[in-house]
Amino acid sequence: MNRTCYLCASDQNSTVFVENGIDIVRCSNCGHVFSTYEQEEHYEGYWDDDSSYDLGWWDLAHREIYEDFIGKFLTASSGRILDVGCGLGFFVKRIGERKPGWEAIGYEISEKAVRFAKEKNGLKNVFPGIVQKSGIPRESLDIITLWDVIEHIPKPHSLLEYLHSLLKPGGILFLQTPNFPIQLFKANLKVLLKGMKPDGHYLEAKDHINDYTEKTMGLLAGQTGFKDCRFTILKPIASVSGSGGGKLGTLFKKTYYYATKTIWLLSFKTVNLNNTLFAVLKK
Ligand SMILES: [Zn+2]
Repeated sequence: MNRTCYLCASDQNSTVFVENGIDIVRCSNCGHVFSTYEQEEHYEGYWDDDSSYDLGWWDLAHREIYEDFIGKFLTASSGRILDVGCGLGFFVKRIGERKPGWEAIGYEISEKAVRFAKEKNGLKNVFPGIVQKSGIPRESLDIITLWDVIEHIPKPHSLLEYLHSLLKPGGILFLQTPNFPIQLFKANLKVLLKGMKPDGHYLEAKDHINDYTEKTMGLLAGQTGFKDCRFTILKPIASVSGSGGGKLGTLFKKTYYYATKTIWLLSFKTVNLNNTLFAVLKK
């Protein structure tokens, strides 16, 4: 069990949630929240299970969010972008289709997922292994993205410092991760309504080792050399199942997205009630 905060090295903390015996704690010194579960540094469990390889779902569900990202960030006619933890390669593929002037590369620890990206998605520009061994030249990239990656990494300092070195001056590192205060609220509500189930999903205590807020994401950005950390709100990942539940789910997510975005804009970007954090770190 780990009880030391990786952001400030303090071992003083208090438990904010217990998920099936695993404590999730908040650092008394800096406020960072983390799971006490000890996960290996280069965990690739997610892609071990073939059942998550649902091509149609990935493609449809992520179309709007990727489109929103491309419209906001890939405004230049050409550039170089790296997707770290690219999974089955759908984001890399989308950029190739939408922005042929951009050179996109993906790195993914899971060899199985990369094989899939190459064989089924027809991608040549995705590579297996850890990105630190990629040999990508320093200051050669305009954008680096990590979609749902940062929360899985126990100690991400060295990775972020490495990625910082790959960016051109003024380049951006984009991180998508759950917005912890909202996730905690949802988890507490779930327990209140249905009780704690052994197979239930709350805060993913074994998978999401670090739980970020805008404040602690800002701390991490500063500690790894980035001069600016801002947030944006992108369209949600759609619920796609073909059933009525899928349509209702999508409608709910859309409504929630517009509501949180409106509150965020009206509060001059100080109140972020979206369940996802979209952090934009600038070099
Ligand atoms: Zn701390």
